[in-house]
Amino acid sequence: MEISIIGSGIAGITTAFYLGEKGYKVNLIDPKINSSINNLNPQNGSQAALGVLMGNSYKRSKGRAFFLRNKSMKLWKEWINKINHNESNLELEKPFIKLANSEKEYQSMINISINKKKYGIELLDNNAIDLWSSIFEKKIIGGFISHNDGRLNPIKLIKSLLKSLDQININKIENHVISISKNTNDNNKKWKILLDNNQYINQDYVVICSALNTQKLLKPLGHSILLEPILGQVIELKLQDQTTNWEKWPAILNYHSINFIHHNPDHMIIGATLENGTQASLINKKKMLNMNNNAPEWLTKSRINREWKGIRARPINEPAPILKELEHGLLINTGHYRNGILLAPSCAEWIGLKINEDSIKYKY
Ligand SMILES: Cc1cc2nc3c(=O)[nH]c(=O)nc-3n(C[C@H](O)[C@H](O)[C@H](O)COP(=O)(O)OP(=O)(O)OC[C@H]3O[C@@H](n4cnc5c(N)ncnc54)[C@H](O)[C@@H]3O)c2cc1C
Repeated sequence: MEISIIGSGIAGITTAFYLGEKGYKVNLIDPKINSSINNLNPQNGSQAALGVLMGNSYKRSKGRAFFLRNKSMKLWKEWINKINHNESNLELEKPFIKLANSEKEYQSMINISINKKKYGIELLDNNAIDLWSSIFEKKIIGGFISHNDGRLNPIKLIKSLLKSLDQININKIENHVISISKNTNDNNKKWKILLDNNQYINQDYVVICSALNTQKLLKPLGHSILLEPILGQVIELKLQDQTTNWEKWPAILNYHSINFIHHNPDHMIIGATLENGTQASLINKKKMLNMNNNAPEWLTKSRINREWKGIRARPINEPAPILKELEHGLLINTGHYRNGILLAPSCAEWIGLKINEDSIKYKY
């Protein structure tokens, strides 16, 4: 049985990894599959991501969104061991700390700390609150620490996964998919993929992981999937010398809906804005930089070292992510919006289980 995956962002490469490990013959198709991997000039949404994994501190304890997060946190733990190579240096950096911005938010944190205690969530103690109040030059009401949430560096992650794909013989095809159609001849492979070099490949299964391009590929097949672009800006700041001795900075600190990553003694990454469309707005960037007029001095005095932006695909009229078998052999794994890195392994597993279920049903 042969499967083609369209798109080599995090959704596509994790799906390829899962299926390849199960022994399927997999083609991974993307014109950017061999491009350099970096966040300054990201080739896709995945390379622009911060890599925050907030699976345990998710407020719900049931339902699809909870299940996918919970499963992913478990799978990432296993996968990190599997995909780590000598030079990868890949680890789930922990913990994650969120500071409350209002009394209402703090009340909801109290509930999370009660309901999610077994997932490693607890309220910050007074010493921690004092520390963060002094760092942010403002009396912080409260916050929580999630000991098992944190960050996976997306660039290291993508590089490691791509290397693992070579080891399990995934066939990488550096082309753009022009269209997908059904085979009408006797060929027992149901799907026909047209590449931009005018070549056709016949497949038993097609898995679409092409983010915003998904709607264009599906329309001729009569399927309507609507996605919209939400841009995110990320800034790396060079801090002043006196602020570089913050030893207790967690992997991720979230305050005023901004993620702070103190990834090197005098550098801080902050992100990411949520902007409708594909054009970055200076106003949104300034709002993030001054934390909606709440920025402490170390932030206002820092200077921009590097900055980048990326696009997330958000489903319209349905929850993220979109995981569907549209018809036999045609599956989609896309529209992860803000949590594509977090959700990637559980979504890849969903696709794998669906194909496995089918292969029993249709006796491949
Ligand atoms: C600034 C920013 C910060 C983020 N931070 C986080 C975070 O902290 N945590 C988290 O979990 N998520 C985060 N995200 C979200 C996450 O990055 C996305 O949800 C995720 O990258 C989606 O992955 P994807 O594979 O679906 O899409 P993409 O990474 O966009 O990949 C889609 C791929 O499909 C290919 N493609 C498209 N059309 C075709 C075609 N016709 N033929 C072949 N290939 C095609 C493209 O070339 C592209 O490589 C962030 C996103 C942004 C932009």
